[in-house]
Amino acid sequence: MSTGPSGLHTVAAALRTARGHGVDRLDAQALLSAVLRQPRAWLLAHDEAALDGEAQTRLQALLERRAQGEPLAYLLGEKEFFGLPLAVTPDVLVPRPDTETLVEWALELLPANGRARVADLGTGSGAIALALARHRPLARITAVDASAPALAVARGNGERLGLAVEWLESDWFEALAERRFELIVGNPPYVAEGDVHLKALRHEPPQALTAGADGLAAIRRIVAEAPARLTAGGWLLLEHGFEQAEGVAGLLAKAGLQEIATRRDLGGRQRCTGGRVQSGQLSCPR
Ligand code: GLN
Repeated sequence: MSTGPSGLHTVAAALRTARGHGVDRLDAQALLSAVLRQPRAWLLAHDEAALDGEAQTRLQALLERRAQGEPLAYLLGEKEFFGLPLAVTPDVLVPRPDTETLVEWALELLPANGRARVADLGTGSGAIALALARHRPLARITAVDASAPALAVARGNGERLGLAVEWLESDWFEALAERRFELIVGNPPYVAEGDVHLKALRHEPPQALTAGADGLAAIRRIVAEAPARLTAGGWLLLEHGFEQAEGVAGLLAKAGLQEIATRRDLGGRQRCTGGRVQSGQLSCPR
C-alpha cells in the first residue's frame, strides 16, 4: 500500500484514503480517533480538521499494518470484552465475541451470592476470568496460562479494572496441585495445525490457537484431567471450533461427565460444550 501523506491531510481525506486501501471504515475511524485522541463522534463533525505531519505519519503506519491484516485490537492495544476494556498485546489472543457464550453459560451456573471456586484455563488476556469476576464478585477465581507474557497482560488488566483474580503460570492444571473447583472454564487452542484459517490468524500467538493435527490435543488433555479437579456436581465448560461439538461431547462422556450440552455463539455456530461431574459422586484425587 502506498498511502501518500497527501491523502491524509484532513479527517475526510484520511478516511477516504483508508477506504481506498481496503481498510474497513469503522477500523479507519478507530485508528484515526486513536491518533488524534478524539472520540469517534468528533471525527464525524470535523471532516475538514487538519492532521499535522506527525499524525499523518502515525496514521499511515497504522493503516499499512491494518491493510496487512494485523488485528485492530493490537494496533489500538485494546479490545472490549463483555463490557470490559481489556489491554491486549500480540502475546495474547484477541478476545472474541464468540467467547461471550461461554461467559453467559458460566454466569448461569454461578450463584450470584456464592463463593464458588472457578478455574479459567489458558486465560490469555484474562477475558473470561475478568468477566466472571466483574459479575460474580464473591466467586474465587483462579486463572492460569502457560505463557508468562500473557499472564502479565492479564494481571495488568485485573489491576487496572480493580478485579480480584488469582493469576498463576501453569500448563493447564499443572500448578494447581490438588485443588478442586466448582466450575472449570476455558478457551483453549483448538485449531488444527495446517488449518486454512490460520493464515488470517497469523498475527496471534500460535500456542493460543493450534492444538495438534485435529485441533483437539489441548481439549483432550483438559477433559481427561478435569473430573479429578472438579467438586461433586462441578461443571466443565469449554469453547471449541464450530465443527468440534460432537468430538468434545464424546470426550466429556468418555471422562464420565454428565448432562452434556452444547451452546451456540452469536453467529449460530456450535461453540461451547460442557458437562458436570455427577452430584454426590466421589471423585478420587489423583
Ligand atoms: N476463535 C478463534 C478463531 O478465530 C480460535 C480461538 C482458539 O483457538 N481458542 O478461530
